[in-house]
Amino acid sequence: MPNAYQNFLSQLDRALAVVPKPVALVTTLQTPNRIIEHTLGIQKDNGAEQSFSAYRIQHNNWRGPYKGGIRFHPQVDLDEVKTLAALMTFKTAVAGIPMGGGKGGVTVDPKTLSSTERERLNRAWTNAFRADIGPTVDVPAPDVNTGSADMDVIANEFGHPAVVTGKSITHGGSVGRDTATAQGGWYVFEALRSHLNLGPDPLTVVIQGFGNAGATFANIAHALGHKIIAVSDSSGAIHNSAGLDIPALHLYKTAHRSVQGFPGAENLTNSAMLELPCDLLIPAALESQITGENAPRIKAKVILELANGPVTTAADDILFVNNIPVIPDILANSGGVTVSYFEWDQNMKSEHWSALEVDQKLRDHMNAAATAVQTIAVQHGTDLRRAAFIVALNRLQETESKQK
Ligand code: GLU
Repeated sequence: MPNAYQNFLSQLDRALAVVPKPVALVTTLQTPNRIIEHTLGIQKDNGAEQSFSAYRIQHNNWRGPYKGGIRFHPQVDLDEVKTLAALMTFKTAVAGIPMGGGKGGVTVDPKTLSSTERERLNRAWTNAFRADIGPTVDVPAPDVNTGSADMDVIANEFGHPAVVTGKSITHGGSVGRDTATAQGGWYVFEALRSHLNLGPDPLTVVIQGFGNAGATFANIAHALGHKIIAVSDSSGAIHNSAGLDIPALHLYKTAHRSVQGFPGAENLTNSAMLELPCDLLIPAALESQITGENAPRIKAKVILELANGPVTTAADDILFVNNIPVIPDILANSGGVTVSYFEWDQNMKSEHWSALEVDQKLRDHMNAAATAVQTIAVQHGTDLRRAAFIVALNRLQETESKQK
């Protein structure tokens, strides 16, 4: 399997094979502007010292300040953060927001940290990267295993709310930010639905990952009457072909810290779950989950990437031949960073938008992004991933030429 950054480069190459761009533009986009690495030392509650590798990659800022989350995960490494930063440049361009692309990460298993240790880690991260971030320079946000409490600490340590987005409402966050990734994904799906070969409602849905994006998507689809037939978390998966009771599953997960063992559902492995027949498969966990190895066995009718990079280019080719459209991450999960931009904009202007206003603006952005991608896909007779990259490349080229 190629490493994640090589996978990004081949996604880019495949779009460029459809719509070539000047070499100088391509070379810049193939390489991050800056790679910043620090070792963070914190004191554990028992007085011992522990150190962690920490990263911020600033990929591109032609369209605006670098923008992207900070991930806490034991598998975080430079290759992963570089890939996620590059995807942010293309995602903010597809979403049509005036932001660039960046990403941060700490190689840590957050389950091993107490809440005070976690706070010290966030303060250490802020101080290590203080000179490199800022409201008009680089604006981090939540990502896998980070959330509003972490962002509140970073904003507090830095001393300005607009340095991060995804804060709690009482600390300058925006209404609708916590549900934005999933809600945006649903709006993208709705905008594209008539082009997808799906039957009438209710749809059957399989969701990999029950974190913020996956669990919120389950709530949205369940509330609309669709059947969530399987979900997974890091402990494994559960399946019930009649549909899972999602509100009850939330209570179960809070009590048992795992979805497995949920009454009335059968346990199965994460990999078996990905291969279940369904209308919509939602990878909402980590990258490289659907690869050349398991893609031939995928029986979903449509894949919507709420995670970043869950489908490799080898898998893309197999899914294309098998007529399974993939709605790509840089479009499908761009609702999160879109409402992040709304939050930043509100902070910069000292405004507070209503839930209705945020929701309408999110829907408009997602409709516009999905329509732009679908139009290019038809125009060039290509898949949605290549089309999304082409939309982003066109917009990045436009911004770059204005700067000259
Ligand atoms: N981590 C999210 C993403 O991958 C959100 C980034 C942001 O809001 O800046 O898109």
